Amino acid sequence: MPEHRYELMRPQDIVAERARAPIAYVPLGPLEWHGPHLPLGVDMLHAYLLAQEAVQVTGGVVLPPLPLGTETYLSPQRVRDRGFHGDERIVGMDFPGLMLPSLYVEDSAFGVIVHELIRALKRQQFGVVAIINGHGGQNHLVTLDRIAVEESEPPDVQVLHVFALHAGGKGGHAERGETSMMLSYYADTVDLSQLPPLSTALSNTEFGVLDHATCAGEPTPDYTVRSEQDPRAATAAEGRSATAERVQYIVDKVRAALPVALR
Ligand SMILES: [Zn+2]
Repeated sequence: MPEHRYELMRPQDIVAERARAPIAYVPLGPLEWHGPHLPLGVDMLHAYLLAQEAVQVTGGVVLPPLPLGTETYLSPQRVRDRGFHGDERIVGMDFPGLMLPSLYVEDSAFGVIVHELIRALKRQQFGVVAIINGHGGQNHLVTLDRIAVEESEPPDVQVLHVFALHAGGKGGHAERGETSMMLSYYADTVDLSQLPPLSTALSNTEFGVLDHATCAGEPTPDYTVRSEQDPRAATAAEGRSATAERVQYIVDKVRAALPVALR
């Protein structure tokens, strides 16, 4: 199998691959609390996995995953939606009482690093730079959308921001979807015994696990994870099929960004 991982390629390999497919994938996501049952690297690992599968189809290179992402204080409404009173000051998933805060960086610092990396890839004459993003923080998404627009010039360069969870919809946080993905590709890192038995509903505030509707502003009355998105119902098979769907979504977007002759 040809090597696409940028850090393992010699310069002449990169030049040859770029001539075949001038695509650079930039996977990223912050090291962030994902419940007691998942490792902190879920978002970054998810993005890296999708990028590595997509590059097998499109060609190009994949950079090592950036362990970076940003968050800011949640609005009082979002704080209430998660099951708190509303006056707590909470950054992203760093809920009061969780044992380890996440490694977020401020959005301006994050933006500078991503900008600089993309500029360097443009100097290397990649025509499509695809940011594969595993994290859904609001200011994080806004920052990457902005950078993709700002760096898509001159007109023969396309910078894409692809949010992994937008492919196939219904993304939550550390719930069944993310847990299934981790079970299928990084099974050794998942420990469901860190969660209580199934008869106990998972409290959003206690475990830092959120279903999709809660993230979208529709929590359950008792602020617990909906049973259909409970991480304890996760399976490796579900993770594999969701991944295949997301890879296809990325491949379609990247191909559409290529000059017609190279699609
Ligand atoms: Zn995540």
